[in-house]
Amino acid sequence: MKKLVLTLAVSSSIFGFAQSKQDSIKFKNISDKIMTEGQAYDWLYDLTKNIGHRLSGSLANEKAVKWAEQKLKEAGADKVWLERVMVPNWYRGDESLHIKSADGTWKNIKMLSLGNSEGTKGKDLIGEILVVNSLEEFAKTPTEKVKGKIVLFNNEFPQEHIKTMHAYSQAGKVRRVAATEVAKKGGKAVIIRSLSSAYDDVPHTGAMKYEDGIEKIPAIAIGPKSAMELSELAKTQQISAKINSNCSMKGVVRSYNVIGEITGKESKNVIVVGGHLDSWDVGEGAHDDGAGIVQSIEVLKTFKNLNIPNRNTIRVVCFANEENGVKGGTAYAKSIAEKGEKNIFAIESDTGGFSPRGFGLDMSDDKKEIIKSWKTLFLPYGVYDFTETYAGTDITPMKSTGTDLAGLVPDSQRYFDIHHTEEDTFEKVNRRELLLGATVMTQLVYMVDQYWK
Ligand SMILES: [Zn+2]
Repeated sequence: MKKLVLTLAVSSSIFGFAQSKQDSIKFKNISDKIMTEGQAYDWLYDLTKNIGHRLSGSLANEKAVKWAEQKLKEAGADKVWLERVMVPNWYRGDESLHIKSADGTWKNIKMLSLGNSEGTKGKDLIGEILVVNSLEEFAKTPTEKVKGKIVLFNNEFPQEHIKTMHAYSQAGKVRRVAATEVAKKGGKAVIIRSLSSAYDDVPHTGAMKYEDGIEKIPAIAIGPKSAMELSELAKTQQISAKINSNCSMKGVVRSYNVIGEITGKESKNVIVVGGHLDSWDVGEGAHDDGAGIVQSIEVLKTFKNLNIPNRNTIRVVCFANEENGVKGGTAYAKSIAEKGEKNIFAIESDTGGFSPRGFGLDMSDDKKEIIKSWKTLFLPYGVYDFTETYAGTDITPMKSTGTDLAGLVPDSQRYFDIHHTEEDTFEKVNRRELLLGATVMTQLVYMVDQYWK
């Protein structure tokens, strides 16, 4: 009996070794294919330079839908289709911010209205600035001090976090709620210091939200440098701001999730890989999230090119409207629930096209252990971090249908320097880093396709 147990143990470990040897060969095949012939970088050039930024509801976004449909067909998808989604149609228009200095002249400051914000309808909105450093400090500020003022939040980006996504999550609340909190105390506009890891003067936009029944006052962002300078100035003198903007929410319009798949050879179950096709209306939406889109298409193309016999359906979803509504992700989760379609796993890339470091895992601890047991396979490709628990905004709604979720975790040191700015351009993306991200995503999808229960 003892001998039998021993034999079994030995043979199973040999089997395990053989299996992992085969997998490591497959990992190398995938890597060789993508690093030498991958097209993600060229596709990204095309998307960012020939279409550019693509806010939900814009003409450019419509072009991007057609572009993604075409690219999925060219990549070899068995089936490509559009899923209709109603998305918010927010419009920016001309906008400016001027600050009145001690000598009485108005100085222009770089600014961006926050996404979803209402503007000043092209009229000058002038008010005295009140500076606070945080939402907590603002909560303690008496209403009479706020009334009629323009409140500047000089909220610092928490630099102590090595993983900047943690800093962004921690700092993000001010952007979303500041306008509502200020309006509740009678303030007439809000200026926030951009959620930026840099100390430059680049303003970052991003979504804000109004609360029903509370006045919709304008909300804008300025660069960290301007915010710090104005805060210093306000300590010694009274300063005024003049905001003039035309942004407004113009109802909803039709858009689409763009979907393409390779049919499963053994099962009707689906593995989703995706990113979001929309972007903010500044820069080129290169890292956010053109990168995730082209990497996802590369995954599909690699399965096709290497003739990997996928057991499950491998489906790319180019989600609509992540930036200011998550309508695409919500609609997709709803549609699979209605169809009763089993989406066993989803992976999203939406934190930039930088060197991959790991995967965020949003699933049960048992399932996480399975992925962690593959760590040695991933190490040669620089992937070692399986500790994060965030997967992606577009796929999060799928959680309610029981889908296990993962997110590509790239190096995060540069992402929040350029996120949601004019600077998020193709030139900021490195070809090898982008392709390496696509490589490890393909490797993970391959493992999940083979072994997921
Ligand atoms: Zn994004």
